[in-house]
Amino acid sequence: MNEKMRELGCHRSAIRELFEYGKRRRAEIGDDKVFDFSIGNPSVPAPERVRKTLIRLLTETDPVALHGYTSAQGDPTVRTAIADYLNRAYDAGVDANLIYLTAGAAASLTISLTALLNPGDEVILLAPFFPEYRVFAERTGAKVVSVPADPGTFQPDFAVLAAAFTDRTRVVLVNSPNNPTGAVLTEASVKRLVALMEENRAKRKKPIWLISDEPYRELVWGDATVPYLTRYYADTLVCYSFSKSLSLPGERIGYVLVSPRADHAADVYAAICGAGRALGYVCAPSLFQYLIPDCLGLTSDLTIYRDNRALLSRGLRDCGFRVVEPDGAFYLFVESPEPDATAFAERAKSLELLLVPSDSFGCAGFVRISYCVPTDQIRRAMPAFRKLAESYGLKRA
Ligand code: PLP
Repeated sequence: MNEKMRELGCHRSAIRELFEYGKRRRAEIGDDKVFDFSIGNPSVPAPERVRKTLIRLLTETDPVALHGYTSAQGDPTVRTAIADYLNRAYDAGVDANLIYLTAGAAASLTISLTALLNPGDEVILLAPFFPEYRVFAERTGAKVVSVPADPGTFQPDFAVLAAAFTDRTRVVLVNSPNNPTGAVLTEASVKRLVALMEENRAKRKKPIWLISDEPYRELVWGDATVPYLTRYYADTLVCYSFSKSLSLPGERIGYVLVSPRADHAADVYAAICGAGRALGYVCAPSLFQYLIPDCLGLTSDLTIYRDNRALLSRGLRDCGFRVVEPDGAFYLFVESPEPDATAFAERAKSLELLLVPSDSFGCAGFVRISYCVPTDQIRRAMPAFRKLAESYGLKRA
C-alpha cells in the first residue's frame, strides 16, 4: 500500500479528532454537558427555497435524467446560471465554459492543485490556514511554503511574503473570509498581493497562479466586502462551495472556475478536467447541481451567526481572554493564555470545552472556536469559559 496514504488515514486532522471525541463524550456524559466548538458544521437550516426546489425536482423531473450522469464538468445550464450570477453580482468576468462543478471546495482545491502543480513546485500559504491545504498540495509532490500573517490583523505581512517567492513558486493560495481567523482580505491587501505576484512573475518569467478558496464568501459581518479576485489578477482560479452559504456541507456541491483572462485559460481548464478525471471527481452530485440555479444569491439565515459572534466575543472578553475580532466566517480566534495552545485546549477539554489549538493551522498560540452552534450552547458554556479563565488568573477586562 502507499505508506503516505496509510499515514494520512491513521491520523485524522486535529479538528476531526476533536469532533469524534465530542461525539464519544456526549454519548458518555450527555449532550448538554459537552460544549463542542470544534467543527464548522452550519447550525442553521438551509433556506426554505432549497427544500421547495428539491421537492419540485423530485416530483416534476424525469427521475432517470435527474439521477443520471451529467457531463463530467457538470450540466451546461447549471454552469451558465452560475456564470451569469457571478457576472451580475460581482462583475466577475467569468465564463460558463471554464467552470467545473465539484463535490465541494475540498474537491475544487485538490483538483486545482493537481491541475497546476508538478513535483518540486512551491505553494505559498498564508498562515494560519485550513489544514487540509497541506494534504492537498503535498499529495502532488509540491512543497508548502507557510508565510505567517500579521498577528495583529491577520492580513498578509508583505515583508515576509515578498521574501517567500522563489523561482519554484507556482501558486499562492488565499482564503477570505478566513478559516480559522475570520479575517477578510481587504482590497488594499489584495492590490499589494497582486502587485507582488505580478512583479515576481515578470522578474522570473514563470507563471504564478492565485487560487482563491471562498466557501465563506457570504459570511461577512460589519462593513467588510470580499473583493472578487478575477477582477484583480488574470491567472486566478476560484474554488467555491455551497456548504456554508446554503448549509449543505453533507451534499457536497461546489465548483472551481478558471478566469477567462488567465494565460492559456483553455489549457488550464483542460488540466482541471484532467485532474477531475484522474481523481475520480467527475459529475458532481446531479440532484444538487440542478438545485443550484434556483438558489444562487440566497443564504441560510445568517443572523444567528452574527448574534453568536457578538455573544461569544463579549463573553470571552468579559472573562479576560484576548479575542481577534473577525470580519467573516463563523470562527473566533482566541489567544492562548499560555504559549502552548495544545496544553490550553487540553485544559479546556477537561472542562468539556472543545476548542481546536492553532498549531494544526500553521500558527502557534491560539485556539479556534467555531460559533456555528446553537446560541444556547454558547450561553451554557460561559461558566466553563469563566472557570477556564480563572484557572489562568485572567481578570475581567
Ligand atoms: N476550505 C475551507 C477554508 C474550509 O473551511 C472548508 C471546510 O470547512 C473547505 C475548504 C471544504 O469545504 P467543502 O465542505 O465545500 O468541501
